[in-house]
Amino acid sequence: MQDQAPAATVSRLITYLRVIRQFEAVGLERTSSEALAEASNVSAFQIRKDLAYFGTFGTRGSGYLVSTIGLRLREILGLTDVYDIAIVGMGRLGQAITDYPAMGEYGFRIRGMFDSDPGKVGLEFAGIEVSPMDSLPTLMRQRNFDMGMIAVPSAAAQEVADTLVSAGVRALLNFAPVVLNVPEGVMVEPVDFVASLKRLSYHLRGKPVLRHAARQAT
Ligand code: NAD
Repeated sequence: MQDQAPAATVSRLITYLRVIRQFEAVGLERTSSEALAEASNVSAFQIRKDLAYFGTFGTRGSGYLVSTIGLRLREILGLTDVYDIAIVGMGRLGQAITDYPAMGEYGFRIRGMFDSDPGKVGLEFAGIEVSPMDSLPTLMRQRNFDMGMIAVPSAAAQEVADTLVSAGVRALLNFAPVVLNVPEGVMVEPVDFVASLKRLSYHLRGKPVLRHAARQAT
């Protein structure tokens, strides 16, 4: 087994796990690369290749046990551990994230909330009190945050990333639409849904917009 799979493989493994969870939810015990492929919208060849990257999963010809493949995917993706997360920026986005139940299902626990606005400090979301920024290093020592979520305006994002990294956080989910500079060994995962909308607009460019077509039809 290799340590670091290509990013595209990792993205597909995440999709396979999502599908496996659906199989688990309906009580399916066995599956095949063909069934997994169809539900994941990739080829069966691709699935076999991706899984082979991490060793043997099933017996040739008899497919995979859903429970085995689910556990292996969780192990490969590091999802058998629990990760403690600090959110910095408890504005609209930060507050919305605290209510999202799916994170807990995968072992992501929000254990710290921080904001520089004294009006937000002391407020409580999902049972956690918002702390001032200057308490981050102390709380880091007590709670050992594995990941940081950056939900502050762009102008503040680099400073916040620096604070999290200095405190020892090695994995950052960045919602601010700005590129962050971090030292080697720190991973930044950007989340920019407006960029995704731009990819969709690129796909639609030059095509008649449906709304216009509907108007013409009425
Ligand atoms: P917001 O203004 O509602 O909240 C930002 C919060 O960050 C505020 O509570 C503010 O006090 C805090 N803050 C500012 N500077 C800080 C600092 N130096 N240290 C700690 N806290 C600080 O903004 P929002 O709508 O929640 O968006 C947050 C970020 O996420 C922005 O970069 C935005 O572009 C991005 N984003 C927002 C959305 C959305 O749907 N709202 C979606 C995608 C991305």
